[in-house]
Amino acid sequence: MSSRDTYDVAVIGYGPTGATAANLLGRMGLRVLVVERDPDVYSRARAISTDEEVMRVWQSIGLAERLQQDMLPDRPLTFVDTDGVPFIDLKVTSRGAGHPPQQFLYQPAVDQVLRDGVARFPAVEVLLEHECLRVVPKGDEVEVMMADLRTDTFTRVRASYVIAADGGSSPIRGQLGIGYSGRTYTERWVVVDTKKRKEWDGHDRLRFHCNPARPTVDCPTPLGHHRWEYPARTDEDEQTLLREEEIWKVLGAQGITPEHVEILRAVIYSHHVRVADRWRVGRVFLAGDAAHAMPPWIGQGMSAGVRDMANLCWKLEAVLRGRAPDALLDSYQAERKPHVTEVTRRACFVGRIITERNRFVVGLRNHGLRALLRLPGASAVVLKLSWIPDARYEAGFFAKGGSAVGWQIPQPWVFDDAGATVRLDDFLGGQWAVLHIGTPPAGTQAWAASGARAIKITEPTLVHWMRRKKAETVVVRPDGFVYAASQSGQTLPAPPFATSTRTGVPA
Ligand SMILES: Cc1cc2nc3c(=O)[nH]c(=O)nc-3n(C[C@H](O)[C@H](O)[C@H](O)COP(=O)(O)OP(=O)(O)OC[C@H]3O[C@@H](n4cnc5c(N)ncnc54)[C@H](O)[C@@H]3O)c2cc1C
Repeated sequence: MSSRDTYDVAVIGYGPTGATAANLLGRMGLRVLVVERDPDVYSRARAISTDEEVMRVWQSIGLAERLQQDMLPDRPLTFVDTDGVPFIDLKVTSRGAGHPPQQFLYQPAVDQVLRDGVARFPAVEVLLEHECLRVVPKGDEVEVMMADLRTDTFTRVRASYVIAADGGSSPIRGQLGIGYSGRTYTERWVVVDTKKRKEWDGHDRLRFHCNPARPTVDCPTPLGHHRWEYPARTDEDEQTLLREEEIWKVLGAQGITPEHVEILRAVIYSHHVRVADRWRVGRVFLAGDAAHAMPPWIGQGMSAGVRDMANLCWKLEAVLRGRAPDALLDSYQAERKPHVTEVTRRACFVGRIITERNRFVVGLRNHGLRALLRLPGASAVVLKLSWIPDARYEAGFFAKGGSAVGWQIPQPWVFDDAGATVRLDDFLGGQWAVLHIGTPPAGTQAWAASGARAIKITEPTLVHWMRRKKAETVVVRPDGFVYAASQSGQTLPAPPFATSTRTGVPA
């Protein structure tokens, strides 16, 4: 084995989680190997929506604008009763991350753009049609054993760390003996992807048809696609359900005919609510569906995998460059798992609203929600409690004190050093920064010495946000979460390690 075969990180699986990791790590200039079993992007559409915070992560790898070209932003969200009359009509509102709050997408297109993005980084090597067989700890490295499926030959390489982004059935999770606790719903869902031929009323909005006889979701997806999802009844067999004439019966009930759409594919899925018992074993980390699975109702399965990578990759870089201790990596699970658990709870809650079968409860639900949502401000409260949870980690790698700590700062447009208008994250460049409203507090010098920039903030939304969080100064991590905060007259906690600028490759 030559030194060519030693990597900083081996990423197993090239779905959206693995491809996001490869971009993040590649941009940091790390040596990365991606191992993927399939020859190409998975052609079944699966994910159809994501949110502004995920777009912010993709912005950090220089791909947000390109991805957005293939997305549909901000479509309204309607829950309709059996007669097609809305009882919830909402528009997801911005939380200030600097992107449209909701984006509809076509997952194969997203996967392809993420993969194309990886080609910018010469230090990232991608092996398609290679199956990872085992990961074996070897001192301060991990040996990755894999098979080249084109030649039936076996190879071993070594990496300092491994990210197992190998999907819900994660062979690595199995090999490591990690439990995947939770349950799989017995209900089977038919997922129908279509190509739009002619528009119809409501074609441009996400609709949850809460009909107890056949709950159905229909959703616009970009690039001329449209998605329907509905559950199989217990007496319906899968072969029959997937026949075109059966699908047309369901679509026909909503007035959709072959004049409106062409059916591209129909697939049966079961939904899972599962989370891995451990997300780290030594130098191997589980991520994305390998670490968690949830029903799709609030569009967060893939999104959670992208958030995982935004959380883990900067920590891996700090440890690999010798700036931070390996123990920093334990905060990955501590921060991400509670957030994923809460997202999953909310996805299940929304799923219950959609799929309620009891006609008495359905009546109460429809009338109750209709009345509630007429109250001023109620929509915002409903969204806050049932949609994506706040961008906040309750515990993890944070200094003590201050109500801003653990929150992700908003992302307004700011002026850069040359006076150009840029998004805040592009200005900060994924580096640690001390942002202060007044004079820099005591302790700022130590942060500057460790490599973090100190920046006086005058941008009104950020100033307002900091004041609301009772912070005159915040120390922001590379992922935009507040590590430490201080009020006027307080001293900032000392930097936990050297935060100095990485030797990255600009994208
Ligand atoms: C019907 C449906 C609707 C959905 N809607 C949404 C939505 O609207 N929004 C959202 O955010 N999410 C949604 N999801 C979830 C989303 O599709 C998944 O969460 C996401 O694809 C997971 O990404 P991943 O990269 O973690 O895993 P995958 O995409 O499963 O990728 C894992 C990769 O690992 C590879 N692999 C596996 N084993 C090996 C091995 N031994 N060696 C090498 N390679 C290996 C596989 O070939 C695969 O390419 C939906 C899912 C479904 C089924």
